[in-house]
Amino acid sequence: MRIEVDRLAETGESFAHTYGPDELSLEDEYARLKGETQVSGRASGKRDEVSVRGEIKGTVEVACDRCAGPVAVGLEIEFNAAFVPRERAAGLTENVELQEEDLALSYYEDGAVDIDELAREQILLALPLRQLCREECRGLCPACGKDLNVVQCSCQQVEIDPRWAALADLKKEEKP
Ligand SMILES: [Zn+2]
Ligand SMILES: [Zn+2]
Repeated sequence: MRIEVDRLAETGESFAHTYGPDELSLEDEYARLKGETQVSGRASGKRDEVSVRGEIKGTVEVACDRCAGPVAVGLEIEFNAAFVPRERAAGLTENVELQEEDLALSYYEDGAVDIDELAREQILLALPLRQLCREECRGLCPACGKDLNVVQCSCQQVEIDPRWAALADLKKEEKP
């Protein structure tokens, strides 16, 4: 979805789009849309500056940090972004006023704001840095790569057994 800037009213206009799971790629190896994602909001323009505020509702599937299995993350994002033409990017780096914390400044090209790109960025920003399929996920064996939630491989025991054996020896020595 794109919003043409030269036709945009200063009073603003509403937009809404429901993305199917394959309609918007997050361009991230470990995250993809699951089910429908609703993006809606209002855009207004003043000369060549555009402000867009709205919300995103949907579910993203990410990979578990330990076992790489799928984890569904529900998202409800409110965003508030400002856009200026790409050509003005160079002059703006010194403009401190535009670096307010809650106002993300972005650029648009070819006279239109790309809502797909905005939604993708907002979703990726909102994703948790670490995500586990469940708190007690046992992850993958670092030696053989097997999913330890599913199988108990033999290499893990070989690694851990000598240490336990040493502890057991100490305990024995403590006894009179
Ligand atoms: Zn896991
Ligand atoms: Zn193993």
